[in-house]
Amino acid sequence: MAQPTDVSWTTCEEAGCIGIRLAEGRMCLAHANPEMQAEALLLVRETGTIDVRGVPITRELLKQVLDACPRGSDGQAVVHARFGYATFTGDASFGEAIFEATSTDYVPDFGEGTGSS
Ligand SMILES: [Zn+2]
Repeated sequence: MAQPTDVSWTTCEEAGCIGIRLAEGRMCLAHANPEMQAEALLLVRETGTIDVRGVPITRELLKQVLDACPRGSDGQAVVHARFGYATFTGDASFGEAIFEATSTDYVPDFGEGTGSS
């Protein structure tokens, strides 16, 4: 799976990961420890935005993100998301979520990067 290496954001310290770092710490959402993930998801709930550019998103992580999203009038997740170069592994389902992509580099990759499972 081709990955860009010259991305415009500060990347995660995990080897080979181009995920954008969380506001706190040096890891992306996927590689942060559970406390930092919880903190980041709290922020998603508060702000209604998430920036996961380059982050490898598993089905489990996607579910956590969707659970953390603010809800619209119909109970669906509503979030302003930046998914540029994010990769989705497993059976990613966005369900009823409404994503308002705020980035022009919206390049979801549902490729075969399933890795270990
Ligand atoms: Zn990472």
